[in-house]
Amino acid sequence: MTNLIGGEWIGGAESVISRNPSDLSDTIGEFPVATAAQVAQAVAAARDALPGWSATSFRDRQQVLQRISTEIRRRAEEIGRLLSREEGKPLREGIGEAYRAAELFDYYAAECLRQFSETAQSIRPNTLIEVSRGPVGVVAVIAPWNFPVALPAWKIAPALAYGNCVVFKPSEIVPATSFMLAQTIAESGLPAGVFNMVIGAGGDTGAALVGDQNVDAISFTGSVRTGEKIAAAGIAHMAKLQLEMGGKNPLVVLDDADLSLAVECAIQGAFFSTGQRCTASSRLIVTKGIHDRFVAGVAERMAGLIVGHALDEATMIGPVVSEAQLDRDLQYLEIGRQEGARLLRGGSRVKGRSDGYYLEPALFVDTTSSMRINQEEIFGPIAAVIPVNSYEEALAVANDTEFGLTAGIITSSAKYASDFRARAEAGVVTVNLPTVGLDFHVPFGGRKRSSYGPREQGSYARDFYTETRIAYVATN
Ligand code: NAD
Repeated sequence: MTNLIGGEWIGGAESVISRNPSDLSDTIGEFPVATAAQVAQAVAAARDALPGWSATSFRDRQQVLQRISTEIRRRAEEIGRLLSREEGKPLREGIGEAYRAAELFDYYAAECLRQFSETAQSIRPNTLIEVSRGPVGVVAVIAPWNFPVALPAWKIAPALAYGNCVVFKPSEIVPATSFMLAQTIAESGLPAGVFNMVIGAGGDTGAALVGDQNVDAISFTGSVRTGEKIAAAGIAHMAKLQLEMGGKNPLVVLDDADLSLAVECAIQGAFFSTGQRCTASSRLIVTKGIHDRFVAGVAERMAGLIVGHALDEATMIGPVVSEAQLDRDLQYLEIGRQEGARLLRGGSRVKGRSDGYYLEPALFVDTTSSMRINQEEIFGPIAAVIPVNSYEEALAVANDTEFGLTAGIITSSAKYASDFRARAEAGVVTVNLPTVGLDFHVPFGGRKRSSYGPREQGSYARDFYTETRIAYVATN
């Protein structure tokens, strides 16, 4: 009974099995999958709840969101532990993610209080114009597996705050964590139907959801390929779209960089969270004066990385999330070798204390920008060094990609840092910081094929979760 439809927990015809990627002998549970008919019921329940929820006072909404945040904080250890067991990120990151979700609900609870509209004079006499915001309607939230708590929170919290009703479809790879998150949200006093969850595979449950005519808006995070399908399905019934997709993020290291900072940012960005972050620095673009020292420093630091069971205290890097993702990583390691890249370190399967999807972080060197390993998103603990001769060449290589999520530069030159901020084709640019690890109170999103539609997070989320309304009022 893990699909939440109109306030009821409901079973399904088939189920997905969730396994611990750190220990394949640990089955977390079986979760019933929502049928297409149940998806339609969830959307209908959201539609029915919409007039009531959108008419609630902002103070009521603020209080509900605040209660959700309090409840997530209270259960943070439990949620974080389950997340780490199911997704494979180290326990402290799992618990940290649960706290991040609570902060997001806090933030949007406070946003409920921001109740201003604008007025304007009209070109006609005795007429007042008011510009205000109202909810967009029924929102489908489709999430990936890599941040199964914080990422849905940064979509669900603003959706609810601005008066929308939600049907959430989590990734089928993390049903247990999603169930715990949904329980926490549902038990915080939301009226039935305001928040619904359907579990299931993308091509079935997900496709039924995004194709439903009663869905007004779709907020999706996942791969570009899925984003293209969702865009086509959503546009067919004129749904509003917000798509956050993949990355192939460059970290540029210039000759004048602080070497230890450059090495640390590369290690953090490329390998932590098993490289399974859309913001991961998978391309390390390095000028020739520092190249050899940088590569030696990264290789030395890689030797100390402890890959292991997500729940072990010493673990720095957990397992790859699934067998399919592990196969993909291994396949790209082979593609890199065949393309002529030199595998300097790592790339082997590691034996842990249990049978899991453990993979040693891998570093390719002597690579070129046109190689597939530098053009296609791998989404694993694999990075490639691309040597360049100058800052201008580094910038050109950084931009030589269809993606545009994050881009970082490590330099002590204010001139190059400022030029990079202006000319790097990415939604988020970092200077002397990793390309990963971003804040929750400011907007987030990419350019080019990494994103489509309004930005997420911070107060900018309002642009997606509300519609602008214009009223003309005769004043005489
Ligand atoms: P995915 O695209 O395979 O799946 C994402 C979600 O879409 C899942 O819930 C899946 O079931 C669903 N889905 C799949 N096909 C569908 C369809 N036809 N209709 C409706 N829903 C469908 O991605 P993933 O493997 O879960 O996650 C990894 C990807 O997510 C990477 O590309 C990564 O870069 C990206 N990502 C992006 C961001 C960001 O903010 N830009 C953040 C995290 C992850």
